[in-house]
Amino acid sequence: MTELTTHPFQPAGDDADDAFHEECGVFGVWNAPDAAALTALGLHALQHRGQEASGIVSLGEKGFRSHKGLGLVGDIFGDARVMAMLPGRAAVGHNRYATAGETALRNVQPLYADFAFGGFAVAHNGNLTNALALRHSLVRRGCLFQSSTDSEVFVHLIAISLYATVLDRLIDALKQVDGAYSLVALHDGALIGVRDPLGVRPLVLGRLGGEGKSWVLASETCALDIVGAEFVRDVEPGEIVIIDHDGVRSVKPFAHTSSRFCIFEYVYFARPDSVVEGTPVYETRKRIGLELARESGVDADVVVPVPDSGVPSAMGYATEAGIPFELGIIRNHYVGRTFIEPTDTIRHLGVKLKHSANRAMLQGKRVILVDDSIVRGTTSKKIVEMVRQAGAKEVHMRISSPPTTHSCFYGIDTPERDKLLAAKHDVAEMARIIGADSLAFISLDGLYRALGRKGRDAKDPGYCDACFTGDYAIPLTDLEGHAERRPALLALNGV
Ligand code: AMP
Repeated sequence: MTELTTHPFQPAGDDADDAFHEECGVFGVWNAPDAAALTALGLHALQHRGQEASGIVSLGEKGFRSHKGLGLVGDIFGDARVMAMLPGRAAVGHNRYATAGETALRNVQPLYADFAFGGFAVAHNGNLTNALALRHSLVRRGCLFQSSTDSEVFVHLIAISLYATVLDRLIDALKQVDGAYSLVALHDGALIGVRDPLGVRPLVLGRLGGEGKSWVLASETCALDIVGAEFVRDVEPGEIVIIDHDGVRSVKPFAHTSSRFCIFEYVYFARPDSVVEGTPVYETRKRIGLELARESGVDADVVVPVPDSGVPSAMGYATEAGIPFELGIIRNHYVGRTFIEPTDTIRHLGVKLKHSANRAMLQGKRVILVDDSIVRGTTSKKIVEMVRQAGAKEVHMRISSPPTTHSCFYGIDTPERDKLLAAKHDVAEMARIIGADSLAFISLDGLYRALGRKGRDAKDPGYCDACFTGDYAIPLTDLEGHAERRPALLALNGV
């Protein structure tokens, strides 16, 4: 889901920069009492995937009900009166993450529409890369868009499809979109889950105990755990699962192709207690730390994670290097991720709000700091400065991902290329800019080794790593095709 900032009601301008700043979490329940309450719990476990807004659409005896709000899940759905307005045994929900741009309620998902075949709600995680082009042609055909999110094209494509069944209309719509999408959708006959043909974003299927035919779809397994659902399997790339009173069936409307799951989910985005595509995120992060220590070891007294994202890889690093692991930086959990803050001023302030130095662990020491990524460099710079001020003798920064050199167009929040530190500077310059005595990133092959491969196979990487390589596996139709945006966007992103 992303905002289409060039549609007629929202002229391109400064905000056009914000067209790619979205990440999301989705959740769905079929055939369970209090489906909306389970969905609220699931969304709570997926809060890390989006903190800006949340919505739930439930389906009860009297039809569909919806509640959406801006803010955290607990604030929106923590009120029993709100939950009482969402009766039913089926529901879908969505968490939205946007750093800037339009924060209107009309963009909060799930999107809902009344079609000839009945009500239909859909929640989308990912970004569509031809949404602008589709939207332009749909508007010319008379479709009236209600929001500025790319996800709304699904709704119109389904509405105008000439196929008879909901499933065929959905397939018709999916065949017209390019991009990354994990969807959960609900109509009065079924809960539906979909992953795009390359499976860029995650989606898992779970089963609730008790009545035997209660099912859950979620972005990550941590959302199954919170509702006590048993993990059944990942929805496969290009697969549609249809869950109805007969159980679960699967349709694969796309030609088979090698999958490209987002490698950054392992590095940073997914919750560490989730298991993604059979691989536990926590263990992967520890292995990344281990590889990093092998590749770029340095003499030091202590390994310190930048919490929370650097913790598992710092543990792996410390074990492999045989250097003590210490919490030399303490995180204040009562502030959000710094990255969410929309302006540079607040973002700078945010780092101080979020982290403080644990002086006793740093004073007089040679410190290895481990974080998951450097994007703009704001966090690293502030943390290095903070650690030095706390009396560290040396500060060596180690990063558990390769340099982020390219923007993501498939659903991870990254700034434009010219704001990515690694797009403009080599490692030595970056070390100087962040003020570290040394800086090293894990190699691309090292990252793939941590995922159990021999290295990166350029012919079939198996993961989307475009943010580190610029290898964009899904066409960037809007970026390449839109005359007015093309020069600026191409220049910004080096595509
Ligand atoms: P920066 O300060 O711009 O270099 O951002 C790097 C910090 O932001 C790291 O500590 C990461 O943990 C975090 N980070 C990296 N990518 C993202 C993202 N897509 N969304 C939110 N936070 C991120």
